[in-house]
Amino acid sequence: MTGVIEVRDLTVRYSGATALDGVDLTVHAGELVALIGANGAGKSTLVKVLSGLVHPASGTITVDGRLAQVPEGREMFGDLTVDDNLRLGGWRNGRKGRDTTHVYDLFPDLIPIRARRAGALSGGQQQMVAIGRALMARPDILVVDELSLGLAPLIVTTLVGHLRSLHADRGLAVLLIEQNARLALDLCHRAYVLESGRIALHGAAADLARDPRVAAAYLGGH
Ligand code: ATP
Repeated sequence: MTGVIEVRDLTVRYSGATALDGVDLTVHAGELVALIGANGAGKSTLVKVLSGLVHPASGTITVDGRLAQVPEGREMFGDLTVDDNLRLGGWRNGRKGRDTTHVYDLFPDLIPIRARRAGALSGGQQQMVAIGRALMARPDILVVDELSLGLAPLIVTTLVGHLRSLHADRGLAVLLIEQNARLALDLCHRAYVLESGRIALHGAAADLARDPRVAAAYLGGH
């Protein structure tokens, strides 16, 4: 079965060192998929290949539909307002792309701070802006790189709720790249476990959450 993202036999080398080794990964339309793995497993490398920043040594990536990314660390334009950051996400879609209404409908918390400098916001607010900016591209697929990094648990729960409703209400597919395996397995339908550049395990998230190998390595042994 084909998906909206199809990664086939992907190998990436950095000056000789292999960062990804024969990776296969599929995200189907409207599916929530997690990619989990420890530091240095190769998650960022896969994101960089998806955004065209790194070229693979071999293998293919096919994207069917419009893909938008929520980058690790949010990457706000700190001196620009929330509103301007959002509008930048829609620049490809011309005049219509500058309409931010649908983002403020989703994140009403951003309305009172729309004129504030993005650099002055909290991490959670910035992550909302980063997701909102990605949604301005009207994507079919959202690639979210480290949703939870540096954020308080309550804020992460709120953001996860937003991703759930985007999936349920708009049929958005999400590839969630996450160090927090518990969060990722809880949110997603399927998951891939990346270890030293290879997919060590993949399957239904509920099955992986019960897998003793996953529990020992990624869920604190519980
Ligand atoms: P993290 O969560 O720390 O970002 P990661 O799972 O995203 O980890 P990558 O950053 O993709 O892992 O790194 C995969 C491997 O490739 C690591 O061994 C890393 O040291 C190596 N690597 C990453 N970028 C480069 C580079 N530009 N040059 C050489 N080696 C690199």
